[in-house]
Amino acid sequence: MTSSGSASTHEIYAAPTCNCDKRCVIYISGTTNNPNRRFFGCPYLNEKNMPHCNYFMWEDEFIVLQARMVQLQETAIINHYEREMEVMKIQMDRVAEAKINQLEMNIIERNIEVVRFQMNESQVTISNRKPCCTCTVSGLLIVAFVISFWTWWKYKLHSK
Ligand SMILES: [Zn+2]
Repeated sequence: MTSSGSASTHEIYAAPTCNCDKRCVIYISGTTNNPNRRFFGCPYLNEKNMPHCNYFMWEDEFIVLQARMVQLQETAIINHYEREMEVMKIQMDRVAEAKINQLEMNIIERNIEVVRFQMNESQVTISNRKPCCTCTVSGLLIVAFVISFWTWWKYKLHSK
């Protein structure tokens, strides 16, 4: 294959590295099968007295590969984030569920406290009423005694 070196690194994307671990440069093919087709090769390919490797990659095929790689990476990144979001959603759901359970427990505890308080209050009311009943009974007894005494006194006065 004959080739003419344009010897410029590609500007749009990172060029591949050759087997010498050097960034490839673009050459233009001069073959009858692939006239003017650009390809990547070792930067030392056309330099005299410089050892070089035989790295070869058509530029258009490299672009397709790069695009496919980027697509795969993007898919992998999207999948990764989707998984992370799913995990986060599950964790948030668990936290929310725990909080709801806690709130429900708080409400139940508060209701129990309210019932206890109401029971205590009614007991207090009942115990407050007890002396009132006693007072009423003793008051009635006193009134009854006074009436009976008065009646007896009147009867005694009349009988004289
Ligand atoms: Zn090389």
